Amino acid sequence: MTTPSVLIIGSGIIGASVAYAATQRKLPKRVLTSLPVNSVSSTTVNSWAWINANTDNDKSYFYLRNASMQLWRSWMRMIPDLKATSIGGFVWDKNPDELRAFAKCHREWGYPVELLSADAVAVKLPYLREVPDLAIYVPTEMAVEPCDTVSALLAAAKVKPEQRYVQSLLIEGDRVYGVMTDDGPCTADEVILASGNGTPALLKSVGVSLEMTPNTGLLVKTQPLPKLLSQLLTAPDYHVRQTATEQLLIGSAFSYHQALKEDQCQQFAAELVARVERALHCPLPLEVASFSLGRRVIPKGGRPQIGRVKKLDGTEILGLYIAVMHSGISNAAAVADQGVAELATNMPSPLLAPFRPHAGIDQAADGIRQKAG
Ligand SMILES: Cc1cc2nc3c(=O)[nH]c(=O)nc-3n(C[C@H](O)[C@H](O)[C@H](O)COP(=O)(O)OP(=O)(O)OC[C@H]3O[C@@H](n4cnc5c(N)ncnc54)[C@H](O)[C@@H]3O)c2cc1C
Repeated sequence: MTTPSVLIIGSGIIGASVAYAATQRKLPKRVLTSLPVNSVSSTTVNSWAWINANTDNDKSYFYLRNASMQLWRSWMRMIPDLKATSIGGFVWDKNPDELRAFAKCHREWGYPVELLSADAVAVKLPYLREVPDLAIYVPTEMAVEPCDTVSALLAAAKVKPEQRYVQSLLIEGDRVYGVMTDDGPCTADEVILASGNGTPALLKSVGVSLEMTPNTGLLVKTQPLPKLLSQLLTAPDYHVRQTATEQLLIGSAFSYHQALKEDQCQQFAAELVARVERALHCPLPLEVASFSLGRRVIPKGGRPQIGRVKKLDGTEILGLYIAVMHSGISNAAAVADQGVAELATNMPSPLLAPFRPHAGIDQAADGIRQKAG
């Protein structure tokens, strides 16, 4: 097999991870991005960035995420600037029976879950004012800072993303051979869509529909505090961790399906911070420093969509590979590593097999597919 050249669309966590995996396999590559790297308008920058394999009851999704956790640790050993900034996940957002069932199931799958009584939690988290009766603890879960992580991966990939808006995919017969940008065409053997919520519009240009069900999540940053919290906490009505800049990064259990107004955001942000102030013994009063609204990348059905897009008759569109998902920070390392391996070797990855795209060719739009540009 010859080495395929890859054109990666997107420089969020998925695009940056794919670029690094492509460099590891010595694939010629370019990265195009409509937004500047680490733009506040990307989903990645607005992520809580918890790396975990905390899946309800879905064994194949657990295996993908667990493999990704291991790969993240291996990438952290290879890339000095790639670091976890919180380590150890505590979760008590379910009732005790559900927590026990979760622990049993995930232990059987090989996840290092501990079930902790209130006394054990109080010992590990002495600053917690409201101690739960029972909590799950996974020492290998971690968080990263999204911007630092993207920058470290791109630097390790030795690639500088080019800021260009991709208008459409270029296709001839059943093979995508490049993209049309606002600055002219770019071609490659493989176009990889790591374009988050921008993916359906790009697929539509070749008559493929991908249904998404995005929603919005609010995160609040406090002013910096003396170091308090080195782990991640997920309670029923808040989640909190302390960032590399020593700010608390707080999220709520709510997702918003409609646009929030500025004054609503300020009110929700103040309520979240007050909630965490009641839950923790904080060394200083908490103050809101900033808040963000991130648009989650959620394909219909909630699971990742990774691989070739198929036509209705089951044949694949060649030259095109998509990687679209929520929980992209957790999944990115394994998705990038296995996805690039699939393109380089033409061997399907068993880990990715359960997540093939259910995007399909719109029959009505089939007629529009032709060589463009
Ligand atoms: C509030 C919140 C909390 C979250 N918490 C977690 C968590 O704790 N753990 C976890 O694993 N995940 C979490 N997620 C999910 C995770 O952040 C996302 O799954 C991930 O960031 C998606 O990354 P991405 O690279 O696919 O998309 P993005 O970061 O949005 O990047 C998309 C890229 O595609 C480019 N692009 C799009 N369209 C075009 C075009 N036409 N031409 C050129 N470029 C284009 C953009 O410019 C951008 O570079 C959270 C998300 C939110 C919103």
